[in-house]
Amino acid sequence: MSPATQLSGAHYSVAVVGGGQAGLSVSHELRERGIDHVVVEAHRVGHEWRERRWDSFCLVTPNWQCRLPGYPYHGDDPDGFMVRDDIVRYLEGYVAHFRPPLVEGVTVTRLRRSPSGVFELATANGDFTADQVVIATGPYHTPSLPPMAQRLPDSLTQVHSSRYRNADRLPPGAVLVVGTGQSGCQIAEDLHLAGRQVHLAVGSAPRVARFYRGRDCVAWLDEMGHYAKSIDDFDDAGAVRMRVNHYVTGRDGGRDIDLRAFARDGMRLYGRLTEVSGTALEFADDLKVNLDRADAVAEGIKDAIDAHITAQGITAPDEPRYVPVWEPDDQPRELDLEHADITTVVWSTGFRRDHRWIEAPVFDGRGYPMHWRGATSVPGLYFLGLPWQHSWGSGRFEAVGRDAEFLANHIEASRRLADVCGTLTGAPTDLASALPIG
Ligand SMILES: Cc1cc2nc3c(=O)[nH]c(=O)nc-3n(C[C@H](O)[C@H](O)[C@H](O)COP(=O)(O)OP(=O)(O)OC[C@H]3O[C@@H](n4cnc5c(N)ncnc54)[C@H](O)[C@@H]3O)c2cc1C
Repeated sequence: MSPATQLSGAHYSVAVVGGGQAGLSVSHELRERGIDHVVVEAHRVGHEWRERRWDSFCLVTPNWQCRLPGYPYHGDDPDGFMVRDDIVRYLEGYVAHFRPPLVEGVTVTRLRRSPSGVFELATANGDFTADQVVIATGPYHTPSLPPMAQRLPDSLTQVHSSRYRNADRLPPGAVLVVGTGQSGCQIAEDLHLAGRQVHLAVGSAPRVARFYRGRDCVAWLDEMGHYAKSIDDFDDAGAVRMRVNHYVTGRDGGRDIDLRAFARDGMRLYGRLTEVSGTALEFADDLKVNLDRADAVAEGIKDAIDAHITAQGITAPDEPRYVPVWEPDDQPRELDLEHADITTVVWSTGFRRDHRWIEAPVFDGRGYPMHWRGATSVPGLYFLGLPWQHSWGSGRFEAVGRDAEFLANHIEASRRLADVCGTLTGAPTDLASALPIG
C-alpha cells in the first residue's frame, strides 16, 4: 500500500498502530483469520533497531528465540545473536514474507472513541476509523534523562544511549557512562574495547552468566519453564513489570559482562550518580552492594540450573563457580569532569512512555496501560508488545507472537459477538473468560 493513499476517510475492522515486531505479528495473525486491517508505522519497519541502536549492537537473546508468527529464525546460527543490521533484515524479510497491509511514514497523532463506539485515528495524512485498535508502539518512547543532566557544563557532550553509535563519533577524551542496564553495560564495553577511558556509574541491575554447564543460560531457563511463566503467577505483578533486565551480551558469539573484570582492566567504577555541581560529580556509596547483588543473582540462577540438572538426571559438565576478580576498596565517591578529562556523558538511563495521543481512560497514575493480556477495559482497544504483558517474552521476540495470536483470537471472537449484538459490548475480561481462547 503506498503511504497514506487509502487512509484518509477509510474504515477498517482493525487498525494496528506501529509496524515493529509486535505490529507485524498481530497483522500476520489477523491476515490468517481473514480480518481486514491496516498497519500504520510512523517511520519504516525496523526503525527502532535501525535508528536507535549503536553500531556494535546485537541481541542478548539467542536467534532461536526469534520466532515471529509464521516466520521462525531460518538462518544457520540458531544459538548465535543477530547484530543490528541482521535484525532489521529479519523484520524486512517478515514483511516480504506475508506482505502486510502496511502504511509507512504516517504517525497517528490522536486516537479516540466516538460516541457510536468507532475508533477515530488522526494523522497528518488524513483521518480514518476502525472498529478495533491494537497499540503496538513499543515500550520505549522518550529518552529518560535525570534533571541533573541540565546542570552539567555546556562544554560537555551529552548523548542518550539511543543516540550513541560508536566511540569515533564522540569527541576525544574520557567518557562517563551512567547506568548499567543492558545498554549501559554494552556501551561501556564498546568504549572500553575502543580504548577509551571509561568511568561507569553502576546501578542496581542484576546480571546473568552467558553460559553455564555447557549451554547458554537462556536455553537452560527455557527448558526449566521460566519463559512460560505467566505474570498472573506473581503476587507482585506491578513490580515484575518494572524490573530491570539482567546484563549479559551476545557480542562475538556471547559472553558474560563482568564489571569487575572491566575495573581490573582499567575502567573506573562508581556507585549511582547522585549529584552534579559544575564539573563536580557525587556518587552513592553503593558500588560494592550493587556488584555483590548482581553477582548473587547470577549465581542464584546457576543454583537453579544445578537443581534442574540434578532433578532431571541430566548429564552436563561441571563448571567452577564465579570468583570475583576485583573488589571496590576505597572507591572515590567524587569525580571532577575536567580533572578526569571527561568530554562526554552517555546517559543509559532508559526511556519513558508517551501515550498522550491516546484519549482513553485506560492508564494508571504512572501512565502504564491497565490491561489483561493486552485487552483494556475499553472494548476493542488493545496493547501488544509491553514488557511482561503476559510473560517474560512479551516485549521480546520470544513471545510477542503468542500474545499476538491471543489478541487476534480475541478480536475475531469480539467481531463474532458484535455481529450478534450489533456492537462491541462487555468488558473484555468477561469476554475472555467466556470464549475458548488462550
Ligand atoms: C537496548 C535494547 C535491547 C534489546 N534487546 C533485545 C533482545 O536482545 N532480544 C529481544 O527479544 N528483545 C530485545 N529488546 C526488546 C524489544 O525486542 C524491542 O524493544 C523491540 O523494538 C520491541 O518491538 P515492538 O514492535 O514492540 O516496538 P518497536 O520496535 O518500538 O516498534 C514500534 C513502532 O511503532 C512506531 N510508532 C510509535 N508511535 C507511533 C504512532 N503514534 N503512529 C504510528 N507509528 C508509531 C515506531 O516508529 C516503531 O517503529 C531490546 C530493547 C532495547 C531498547
